[in-house]
Amino acid sequence: MIIVMKENSTTENLAEVVTAAKKQGFIPQINEGKQITIGLINVPQNFPEDFFNNLAGVKLAQHVNLTYKLTSRIFHPQDTIIQIKDVTIGGGTFTTMAGPCSVESYDQIMATAETVKKAGGQILRGGAYKPRTSPYAFQGLEEEGLELLKQAADAFDLLVVTEVMDQEHLDVVGQYTDIFQIGARNMQNFSLLKAVGKLNRPTVLKRGMAATIDEWLNAAEYLTTSGNQQVMFMERGIRTFETQTRNTLDVAAIPLMKKLTHFPVLIDPAHGTGRFDLVAPMAMAGMACGSDGLMVEVHPNPAEALSDGPQSLNFKHFNDMMQQLDYLKNALAKGDANGN
Ligand code: PEP
Ligand code: MN
Repeated sequence: MIIVMKENSTTENLAEVVTAAKKQGFIPQINEGKQITIGLINVPQNFPEDFFNNLAGVKLAQHVNLTYKLTSRIFHPQDTIIQIKDVTIGGGTFTTMAGPCSVESYDQIMATAETVKKAGGQILRGGAYKPRTSPYAFQGLEEEGLELLKQAADAFDLLVVTEVMDQEHLDVVGQYTDIFQIGARNMQNFSLLKAVGKLNRPTVLKRGMAATIDEWLNAAEYLTTSGNQQVMFMERGIRTFETQTRNTLDVAAIPLMKKLTHFPVLIDPAHGTGRFDLVAPMAMAGMACGSDGLMVEVHPNPAEALSDGPQSLNFKHFNDMMQQLDYLKNALAKGDANGN
């Protein structure tokens, strides 16, 4: 249920509604934006709306027929902004997460971190536990990879994002990372989502490769109901009949998700296309339609990458893309292309 308070309602009115809700065993979530709204979780559909409509200061109380609630913009109208040290994600910023698909060596991650920082990136990515299609493919350097990733990020004053594949690795990954990444293959691993959710640490939830928008939002609800208020969605392409690209990047998902959820929504055009030559154009498409940021793969020598070489940018391509994004950002600021 959602309760909208009147513009002239008082703090006493609000307190009365919250107390009444708690007495009924409902969990209130108060949003103090331009208009005060209260999201109520656990309200049975047959509970009378008028119970709240009759309280002083209430403009409207209405059942909401959604299977996800804490994640929904209806329950939380204003943008959630995630602050990690000096990096702000959401609320009009554009954050760049970049780095190799897999951490491979000290030299590789150091050189990449330097390039990411100099070009204006804020967050260093790099996989240490890799979800590879073939068990014979490179599986990642595991804890040694995490150490190298953190060392490189610290050396260049970047934050760290890396994938946690398994509950068993939560502790070790948590020691090194600023942001947990839940990969496409694990989007509906509900026990992993609950375990990560309990930590209430910044978490990127990638879209599953065959997941609908509703399934994605519901997956996030496992994080939010477990206590995580720092979710970031990342569109990374879905599987379609098309074979020229690795996945089909659903660019429309960005503005749509921004309507449906208050959490930041980012784009990953590397996994979304599987082709390095499509990464910059799709990064710009993401920025143009309101994405809160970007994740790309960068490698000193993509031809020799141990994973995802074909979609990895070399340093020149990365620098060029960052420059193009800068031009686009300025153009959008002038043109107000998002209609705001
Ligand atoms: C990755 O980021 O390297 C990765 C494996 O991504 P996804 O889960 O989107 O396939
Ligand atoms: Mn990858």
